[in-house]
Amino acid sequence: MPIAVMNAAHQKFIAGAQEWCSLPQLDIAAVQARVDSGAKTSSIHAFNIEPFTRNSSPWVRFDIHPIRQNRRVTIRCESPTIDRRIVKSSNGQSEKRFVIRTPLTLNGQTWDIELTLANRDTMGFRMLLGREAMSGRLLVDSEEKYLFGEVDDKQVEILYGKSAPAPGSGLKIGLLATDPDLYSNRRLIEAGEKLGHEMVFLNIRQCYMKLDADSPAVHYRDGRILNDLDAVIPRIRPAITFYGCAITRHFESLGVFALNNATAITQSRDKLYSLQLLQQQGLDIPITGYANSPNDTDNLIEMVGGAPLIVKLLEGSQGRGVVLAETTKAAESVINAMKSLRANLLVQEYIEEAGGKDLRCFMIDGKVAAAIQREAAPGEFRANLHRGGHAHLTDISPEEEQLAIKATQALKLNVAGVDIIRSTRGPLLLEVNSSPGLEGIEAATGQDVAAKMIQAIEKQISNAYSQTTREQTETI
Ligand code: ADP
Ligand code: MG
Repeated sequence: MPIAVMNAAHQKFIAGAQEWCSLPQLDIAAVQARVDSGAKTSSIHAFNIEPFTRNSSPWVRFDIHPIRQNRRVTIRCESPTIDRRIVKSSNGQSEKRFVIRTPLTLNGQTWDIELTLANRDTMGFRMLLGREAMSGRLLVDSEEKYLFGEVDDKQVEILYGKSAPAPGSGLKIGLLATDPDLYSNRRLIEAGEKLGHEMVFLNIRQCYMKLDADSPAVHYRDGRILNDLDAVIPRIRPAITFYGCAITRHFESLGVFALNNATAITQSRDKLYSLQLLQQQGLDIPITGYANSPNDTDNLIEMVGGAPLIVKLLEGSQGRGVVLAETTKAAESVINAMKSLRANLLVQEYIEEAGGKDLRCFMIDGKVAAAIQREAAPGEFRANLHRGGHAHLTDISPEEEQLAIKATQALKLNVAGVDIIRSTRGPLLLEVNSSPGLEGIEAATGQDVAAKMIQAIEKQISNAYSQTTREQTETI
């Protein structure tokens, strides 16, 4: 039961840290708010924010999803704006926001509050009620919740129509890729739908972005604005790393969770940089040399122990651009020929004892989700499945597991394919892929890797929702 505290002006009520309230003038019959006296300003997560003029006054139009973890109920709102302010959140990000004044109804009482329109949804709640809006009306008991009653799924359905699915019943997840028919992409869409989510295939090349302090957005060629996604799964081909990462980064800046973030993907795409990051963490890699000038070729060859040796293009994938030079003469000519084509390459010690085999650990959320041993086709040293290699289910040693976990952490990837080669001096890291293929690993292990990737998104998002740390909004 709500507790009333008498006060000269009006009764003060004790509210819980989470309460249902309504915004009658915006036609929002029920919205869950986090009530936090540590925050100064109140905010609501709005998207498709468009300023306009009505009767010579500034107005703003915006959309709101009033129900948590539910992107299907959308309310279009319009309101006069009273101000535009720079608001800084606890994570240090500043944002210029529109401010509106609108009546709030809570526990049967209605009063006007100022509400800033936030275009980020990092705190998980659609609305934050800060101390300015509470003044003289409310006290907060942060240990309590819903002291003024809960709105259950049935009531949500009555308030917002039958089409409104229950909260938490589905996320809207974008698959940011190029080819919808690719096995991995088909599986991710299928697995997401099976788990009750709305999956949207987004062709990277058809996405474009708007950079603007007030209303940043990602647009799609068919006219859609993609700001209301909960998460994106970037599956970026090496050929469009630059653009794919720019789009991923833009989604991140809109508060959309990216299963792998743009910075991590960019780093992993550069073989030299990622080896440097791995080596900085003290992780074992084959001895590797890199030089800018052909004048240093002889020393490079010597540095990695002479021929036979491996030459790798810095941005190769699927085994393309990885060459075995069996003699010193062959190594010199390959290196110099590639250099004369201005290719960026590294020279690496050849792990002959691996016998054309390597390990692929499919990492999800810091753990090995599945592991296979890949074996090169006869006469081939590259174990890539795209080069005709075969995959077998395998057990990996605790040492190999630790190496894969640390490599994924070093590159800050949530999903990664870690390639490890077994040498006489122990397991060595070859590379870490940010868009590992699902076909070979699912076929060889029988694991539903796609579903595990979707579950990693669910976990991240529900962590964000249950996050109890405050978003201390301050107006500057
Ligand atoms: P890519 O990005 O093209 O897959 P990798 O560095 O993973 O490049 O190399 C491809 C394959 O070549 C590996 O899976 C492995 O079988 C083989 N390979 C790569 N480096 C070495 C090495 N230093 N010694 C022996 N085999 C190697
Ligand atoms: Mg590889």
